Amino acid sequence: MGGLEALSRFDTDLDGVAASAEGAATAARELGLVDLALRADLVGADVRRRRGHLADAGSTAQAVQRWAVEHQARFLQARAHHLMAAVFQELGDLSQALEHAVHSVDLLDDEVPVTVRIDHRKRLADCLGLQGDTGAQDRYAEVLVLAERLGDVTRLSQILNNSAYTASLAGLHDTAQAAVVRLQELAVEHDLPTDLATTDTIGRVLMGLGRLDEAEEALRPGLDPDVLARSPDGDAGADFLLTHAEVQRARGRLEEARSSLEECIRRCEAHGLTSIRIRARREEAALHADAGDFQAAYAEHVRYADAALALQSEQRDVRARTLQAMYEATEARQQSRRYRELSLRDALTGLHNRRHLDEQLPRLLASASPGRPLSVGLVDLDHFKRINDTCSHEVGDEVLRQVARVLEAVASTVGEDAFAARMGGEEFLLVMPGTGIDHATAVLEQLRHGIAHKRWDHLVGALPVTVSIGAAVSPNPLPLDTPELLGRADARLYEAKRTGRDRVVGPQTALSPRATG
Ligand code: GH3
Ligand code: MG
Ligand code: MG
Repeated sequence: MGGLEALSRFDTDLDGVAASAEGAATAARELGLVDLALRADLVGADVRRRRGHLADAGSTAQAVQRWAVEHQARFLQARAHHLMAAVFQELGDLSQALEHAVHSVDLLDDEVPVTVRIDHRKRLADCLGLQGDTGAQDRYAEVLVLAERLGDVTRLSQILNNSAYTASLAGLHDTAQAAVVRLQELAVEHDLPTDLATTDTIGRVLMGLGRLDEAEEALRPGLDPDVLARSPDGDAGADFLLTHAEVQRARGRLEEARSSLEECIRRCEAHGLTSIRIRARREEAALHADAGDFQAAYAEHVRYADAALALQSEQRDVRARTLQAMYEATEARQQSRRYRELSLRDALTGLHNRRHLDEQLPRLLASASPGRPLSVGLVDLDHFKRINDTCSHEVGDEVLRQVARVLEAVASTVGEDAFAARMGGEEFLLVMPGTGIDHATAVLEQLRHGIAHKRWDHLVGALPVTVSIGAAVSPNPLPLDTPELLGRADARLYEAKRTGRDRVVGPQTALSPRATG
């Protein structure tokens, strides 16, 4: 049974795996070994998932899950969660996927086979990586070590593949390239056949590095109609087609790009692949633009960038809530602490998030005093929509990450207690406990200057990247609560925008009667 579970994940002989699973299930049922029978059922369901029958696989997993909870069968529960994580991942519901992946790791006892441990942890890394969480790369590194120790070439190449793919998605092009190089070496060394997912990853990473001719070359084998038709789940095929469309468009081959994109969208719709569908829509907009139809491009872009953003922030919220709830439900184990930390961090920038702020700010404000005031700066990017619209959403994301790094650097100059948080969208807060408003305003002025004078041209060309900042302090002279403090900072931020942007407005900035107090 263990052998069957270890194999099924990567075996290309799906029919063979399905038959063995069914045989094992029947035998186990005859012996009255329900637990084993259900484990075999999960293997069969995973084969159906890989053939694109997601709902069917999901309902088997759920049924097994219910039985396992009732009978306190931890390993079986872990296996069911592992399958559900994959189902939700393919459906584009990354928060659900992450929740299941976290459980699937959490429920593993020390004595489970290391192959299972690798598979479950790798999927957790996948779920994080697909959300653009850069922490995924550390998790891939962990499982890579385990797979290396086993000398498990198939798993090694799967891990490298997914690490490269998600690193590229997150804009970590160097990490992605390093993984691809190792992947290619491994393939040569062990004479591995290349599958569509690997082809896609290599093409995408080369494209990310701007090496379009090589990307086109790397993708070519996947275009073979037989290879495409054989791609078991629509998933790998749709991803591949999207990459191919992007590369062709970048090379100015708009007709080829359009035809790949149409097939990609057809597969997305046939298999309910929401997240690839959204990315395909964005690519459609770009294609319209390259073809000179700016009206259509703009309309498409706005609609789908918004849809993507809504989906993302919803996923992040749900994720944070789920992980928080889990932490409260389980004991204070070491892993749980890490998950909790995760739920208090923003996935895109790694900064603290709004939830962390809501927890910390009231406490910090309560301990502020005239001798130890607390200052904040509310930081909002200027004309950020322009960056998204003119460059791309990815470039916008990268700008947000870099602004976050500047904020962190500035926070570290203020003192140990100071920290930066992402409030949401393109708005950040610098929190400076034990800092009076004069010092805080000077720090914020440095921050403003640092961002305005940083080199951005490699990302956004000639577009300026600047921020407007509203500062506030408590007590001033009376103690303020969180909404009051943030309300004042927000009013001053508005003032900074109104009076020309790229500036800091604090209580002392005599600009208008609104900005007092
Ligand atoms: P202003 O100077 O008045 O602040 O103009 P603005 O364009 O920055 O402000 P607005 O609030 O109109 O637009 C903010 C934009 O930020 C809209 C939204 O698409 C974008 N945005 C929010 N969150 C993200 C994100 O996580 N990534 C990217 N790339 N864009 C985001
Ligand atoms: Mg803005
Ligand atoms: Mg804003």
